[in-house]
Amino acid sequence: MNRPSKIVCVGRNYLEHARELGNEVPERPLLFFKPPSSIIANGEAVVLPPESERVEHEGEIAVVIGRRARRVRAADAWDYVEGIAPLNDVTARDLQKTDGQWTRAKGFDTFCPLGTMVPLAEIADRDALEVICRVNGEVRQHGRVGDMAFNIPTLIEYISGVMTLEPGDVIATGTPAGVAPLQPGDVVEVEIPGVGTLTNPVQAA
Ligand code: MG
Repeated sequence: MNRPSKIVCVGRNYLEHARELGNEVPERPLLFFKPPSSIIANGEAVVLPPESERVEHEGEIAVVIGRRARRVRAADAWDYVEGIAPLNDVTARDLQKTDGQWTRAKGFDTFCPLGTMVPLAEIADRDALEVICRVNGEVRQHGRVGDMAFNIPTLIEYISGVMTLEPGDVIATGTPAGVAPLQPGDVVEVEIPGVGTLTNPVQAA
């Protein structure tokens, strides 16, 4: 896969997830980056870094940009989308809390498993997309786009008003409730029904 120029992520975009970490949904989308160097493919291992004692999964719906987008209106936003893919926004929760800035907690190598993109034209109902995250076969998270605080077109309008989105860029649209720690030997899956499943083993450094 070609590396995106950037991975733009949205924090606290599902009310129940914001609350489980003691936060409210923000007034505006809360944005952060993951570095392209953190991407791994389906089947590759998430490596738990020695700097963290609590690494958690965050199953998410990823949007892949298909056309250069600059100050796009929400009403036109889907025209700029190439497709949808499952993504795991792996997070060192302890470092996220202690650092303040999220760059380290979100940016370790292997912290962005990204599955195969399915073109938007092949997706039956973009307004009914769901994401399910399982660890060792047990469902931990289940969210629907209808539960997002800021929907996908709104996110594209907001983000493209800040920075030009290039073809191949990825937007990670936030995670539903149910985040929990990963242990060496776990297998974590992020499924978007109708799109596909991203499966990654977890190993110690
Ligand atoms: Mg996330």
